Amino acid sequence: MIIGIDDTDSRRGGCTTYLCAVLVDELKRYGEVSTPRLVRLNPCIPFKTRGNGAVSFEIKTRNKEKDAEVKEMVKARVSELSELREEETNPGVVFIDNDALNAIVREEKDSKSMLKNFYENAVREVLTIEDAYELISNLHLDYFGLKTKRGIIGALAAASFLVLQKNKPDYYDFTYELMSYRRKERWGMLRLIEETSVWKADAATYPLTWDTVDWGEKKIVFAPHSPCPVLFGIRGDSVDAIYRAYELIDAEPEERKMLFVTNQGTDFHLIRFEGEVAKEKLQDYHSYILNGEVESNPRTIEGGHVVFSISLSEKVLGSIECVAYEPTKGFRDIIRKLRVGDEITVYGSLKKETLNLEKIEVRKLNNVIERNPRCDKCGRTLKSAGRFQGYRCKRCGTFKAEKDKVIVERGIETGLYEVPPVARRHISKPLIRMRMEGADKEIHPSR
Ligand code: ATP
Repeated sequence: MIIGIDDTDSRRGGCTTYLCAVLVDELKRYGEVSTPRLVRLNPCIPFKTRGNGAVSFEIKTRNKEKDAEVKEMVKARVSELSELREEETNPGVVFIDNDALNAIVREEKDSKSMLKNFYENAVREVLTIEDAYELISNLHLDYFGLKTKRGIIGALAAASFLVLQKNKPDYYDFTYELMSYRRKERWGMLRLIEETSVWKADAATYPLTWDTVDWGEKKIVFAPHSPCPVLFGIRGDSVDAIYRAYELIDAEPEERKMLFVTNQGTDFHLIRFEGEVAKEKLQDYHSYILNGEVESNPRTIEGGHVVFSISLSEKVLGSIECVAYEPTKGFRDIIRKLRVGDEITVYGSLKKETLNLEKIEVRKLNNVIERNPRCDKCGRTLKSAGRFQGYRCKRCGTFKAEKDKVIVERGIETGLYEVPPVARRHISKPLIRMRMEGADKEIHPSR
């Protein structure tokens, strides 16, 4: 049986991954429990608590009676550990029991592609709870929810991810995160983590682990600052390296730890236009990869945000305003170096018709500037002789028909640039992962 869970926490406390870790540990006495999955869903969803995460795991018990006991236990734990007093907490649980799972494996009613669409839409689109109920009813799934039950959307998406990925791990790109959880008596208190040990752990395992620290900002980024039960999380591509880093970290005693397979660091939220786009429109709360040409030079506005506009290569889509927000820190220095005519690809989320930048690829630099020609005799700058009438030296009468083209040093190279770890979304792919995959592009990781 596969179990998906979401929306159990609030900003004031709790964490769905913690609830998952507790359940995975407790349910081991009922049967074999898989490595849990942590999926990050659409990062633009307005009612998310923090990172729009949902969890799932598989449990193999001896029989249906045991499955029924497991379900009761999950319902009880979700009811007990959810932050139900908070208006924004609306827990949802989806159970894909063995009969439903077998039907999916046999691809009855095209069920696998329905789950695939649901998961992918949960990461890239905005769904309704009715979308979830429809699929639940089509596939005869069992579910449980409290209050508005909105968490069923995320719960079904996380369960779908696991169905698709469990026998074919590379069905989707994935990474790992090892979460360490605090003892209850310390929840809400300052986290005791020995900083130098974190830098050492990072140095010993980067780039197989990443986003533990931010070198540019000299900050540790692997521990939250909220009152939630998470002590820290180590992210990476290698389980071995993650555990090596973990062993090097000195911190307050933990209650438990749990390894998750995740879609973090994969860029799965980004929609790339392929083929016909005439009917497509860019929509708020969606994330895109878009090609275009810089249309206005970047400018810094109040608050330190840097904005510019690009005309999109897909002409039907028109132009769009892009912004590198102040928290993206040094990334803004790259953006400030862009100029009109540069050919770029932007990666980011659309909010209020503005693309919030996560990454940028400079494909071609406009490193030519045009300026009025100089006089060959006296060296002075020629003046315009009128619209479309060339340039003339007032002193010597020298005439030139066109402006001079001068190559300028831009202080930026072509290739991919990214926001630093302090500003990175959970689901955004660090460039260092692209480099490890051997991408055939120039890559300039923030570190
Ligand atoms: P945390 O990161 O601390 O676990 P969170 O940021 O995951 O918190 P939730 O409390 O889970 O936030 O709230 C997100 C809510 O949005 C859930 O109810 C989930 O079902 C719903 N949701 C997730 N993705 C979508 C989507 N694409 N469309 C509509 N609703 C969604």
